[in-house]
Amino acid sequence: LPRIAIIGRPNVGKSTLFNRLAGRKLAIVDDTPGVTRDRKEVEARLGGRAVLLLDTAGLEEAPPDTVAGRMRASSEVAIRQADLVLFVIDARTGLTPSDRAFAAWLRRQPTPVLLVANKTEGRGGGMAAMEAYELGLGDPVAISAEHGEGIADLHTTAAELLPEEEDPEARDRDRPLRLAIVGRPNAGKSTLLNALLGEERMITGPEPGLTRDAVAVQWEDDEGKVRLVDTAGMRKKARISESLEQMSVGATIGALKEAEVAVLVLDATLGMDEQDLRIARLAEREGRAVVIAYNKWDAVEDRAAARQVLEDTLQTSLAQLKGIAVVALSAMTGRGVDKLMPTVRRTIERWNRRIPTGELNRWFEGAVAKHTPPLADGRRIKLRYATMPKARPPTIAVFGPRAEDLPEDYRRYLVNSFRDTFDMPGVPIRLHARGGK
Ligand code: GDP
Repeated sequence: LPRIAIIGRPNVGKSTLFNRLAGRKLAIVDDTPGVTRDRKEVEARLGGRAVLLLDTAGLEEAPPDTVAGRMRASSEVAIRQADLVLFVIDARTGLTPSDRAFAAWLRRQPTPVLLVANKTEGRGGGMAAMEAYELGLGDPVAISAEHGEGIADLHTTAAELLPEEEDPEARDRDRPLRLAIVGRPNAGKSTLLNALLGEERMITGPEPGLTRDAVAVQWEDDEGKVRLVDTAGMRKKARISESLEQMSVGATIGALKEAEVAVLVLDATLGMDEQDLRIARLAEREGRAVVIAYNKWDAVEDRAAARQVLEDTLQTSLAQLKGIAVVALSAMTGRGVDKLMPTVRRTIERWNRRIPTGELNRWFEGAVAKHTPPLADGRRIKLRYATMPKARPPTIAVFGPRAEDLPEDYRRYLVNSFRDTFDMPGVPIRLHARGGK
């Protein structure tokens, strides 16, 4: 489980926050005298995730030469063990010199830090929370640990900074690949599904999906199991409804939520229009990898032109899924259909991929050296390091003073550079920039 350390100078409300997150009052029990004080951990939930809260309270009794020294001594231990640090300041008394000294030290630590401005209930707290920006640790989350205010916000923000959840299913090789076939009416979704299922062993017949409009079917091919979640096309096959389908955005989103990858079926005789783009953007927004099935290839006369038109559209209108794989096929004749699943599997692998921190930072340093980040309000944005807190979709977090001010085009540059370096075409990539450190 990810470990969370709550640190800050005495009396800022660490224990109150600790108890608030732990969800119950905890007696801080002392260890047997003479035995090195063990760090205690308490299981809690943060942003819906199970985490371990590190109890650093005991460590505050470490050599009390100076407040800052004491904080640092206890925090060094905590930080070494933690995946995320909640740095608490007292918004009522405002920033103290030791907060500042401590923040300066924290900024140089590799552990992600979330700045928490406590005691912001009532008037005045808001001002001090504003002041907290000066610490260069990014946006503070304003809370009142005692009154339970802002805690929901804290949960959400902290969850974003936690390392990727270890999905027990993800390690299960038997786990089916989750696929959605999307596209507008008559693109050939049903025909393609039948072609895909043609020779495969069905594991289950149509079964209800997790969301209202979705239907799922499982099959198995040489590479493993596939769970296909579908909307209208499936329904037709399953005779659940014979009604003429309308492209239902709700149903498409439902299917996308259950999938890892979306196969967007296009009618190659018509090309890609606004409606198709809209579906592709929905998939991107849901963080799904996308593969295009360029269907009805048998009926296309000028294939070179059809390819070119699609490529142009993708480049100008779908840059966020740059490099997306296109499989030209005919669901009707079956030609090219065998290329689809291998392409889907390759795309999912990329979507799943975790880049080790060392490799990631070698890329990051190179990318930042090649293009220095611009000025923000006349001051240079410094980018110190990057982490990859999540995959599925790949998510990069970059850290450095004023990183939160990175303009959109620089973020895009980083994303594209990352995509090219680590070969992730057709995969949405998320970038979070956080100030500090
Ligand atoms: P859906 O609405 O997306 O499920 O589309 P359907 O699978 O019902 O197909 C719509 C129409 O396109 C049907 O008349 C199909 O026969 C036709 N169609 C589907 N795939 C192909 C193909 O590869 N080539 C050609 N020429 N027609 C196709």
